[in-house]
Amino acid sequence: MKPENKIAPSPSNLAMVPFVSVAHMMDLVNQRGLETVLRELADMIESDFKRWPEFDKTARVAAHSPDGVIELMPTADAENYGFKYVNGHPKNTKQGYQTVTAFGVLSSVANGYPILLSEMTVLTALRTAATSALVAKYLAPKGAKTMAMFGNGAQCEFQAMAFKTLLGIDTVRLYDIDPAATEKAAKNLQNSGLKVVKCTSGQEVVEGAEIITTCTADKQNATILTDNMVGAGVHINAIGGDCPGKTELHRDVLLRSEIFVEYPPQTWVEGEIQQLEKTHPITELWQVMRGEAVGRSDPRQITLFDSVGFAIEDFSALRYVHSCVTKGAAHELLDMLADPDDPRDLFGMVKRAQP
Ligand code: NAD
Repeated sequence: MKPENKIAPSPSNLAMVPFVSVAHMMDLVNQRGLETVLRELADMIESDFKRWPEFDKTARVAAHSPDGVIELMPTADAENYGFKYVNGHPKNTKQGYQTVTAFGVLSSVANGYPILLSEMTVLTALRTAATSALVAKYLAPKGAKTMAMFGNGAQCEFQAMAFKTLLGIDTVRLYDIDPAATEKAAKNLQNSGLKVVKCTSGQEVVEGAEIITTCTADKQNATILTDNMVGAGVHINAIGGDCPGKTELHRDVLLRSEIFVEYPPQTWVEGEIQQLEKTHPITELWQVMRGEAVGRSDPRQITLFDSVGFAIEDFSALRYVHSCVTKGAAHELLDMLADPDDPRDLFGMVKRAQP
């Protein structure tokens, strides 16, 4: 069952909005299989990146506070509008909360009615992993088998599984400043088909890795990856630098890399490239996917995906979930929209409901 590309609200059910809870999302992943979901999501994201000019695009709207950020990520095409609400609070895990939580809405442009409300904490981990692996298909060195993974938190295993599924890596090397996170990830990846190597330093984790993923959470300009750790031909998948003042790579790594981004107006503010002059050359991924720009051009080149997460990836993910729901994936219907018999008699509807 391939998810359909086009979606429309069902006229008979306009007033009830399908809601996909965390339990429903877990059911979807476990029913369809994680690798199938990652592959289908990557297909949906790629097809949307290839029609990039059709979208209304804007950098996300961020509300910063000392310990984190809350963001709204909207986009639309001619048929649908979508947005995600997402937070990023690196200190949260110490209090037992997630660093990143999210939910999102997909609507019909034709009448403005929502057609899906969904949890997006699990979905964000899935779409981020699917995007990373999709991008690596264009940029990683041919035949890459080993990935180093800095940061073994909530996103980690999703990333590892996406690279196994879409790229065929067979080994993941794990490193986190908290050994308990590495133990957790190694346990979760048992029987995944990946060889898992637990490492105790950044220098150790990059040994023999053709792909380096940085996925740490710290609200500062960190230097997770220094120049001496990055050999020729490596692909860097930099996930965790996604806010002003929150980066992971030493500037020297950027200066040696060919840099690829999602949406430049957002990445210049939030990504690793906030460390560079605005004149520094960068390449937009949608153009690489359409064959209008070059991806990796040399086996010795260092390629860098400066990922911050863009609204179109969430739009694709919501479209995917909606297409699964229309084919019977678990959900409930929410009475979210007023539906008076006469559309103009909203007052009468309230009045008639009096006890
Ligand atoms: P998390 O808090 O669950 O995990 C982060 C891990 O990084 C923790 O285990 C922490 O101990 C580790 N860490 C912190 N500093 C480190 C260091 N110097 N070296 C090694 N490990 C270190 O967070 P998460 O949900 O896994 O998210 C990871 C990062 O990815 C966050 O910064 C988040 O904002 C970002 N993110 C980006 C996208 C995107 O689209 N680019 C999407 C989701 C999350």
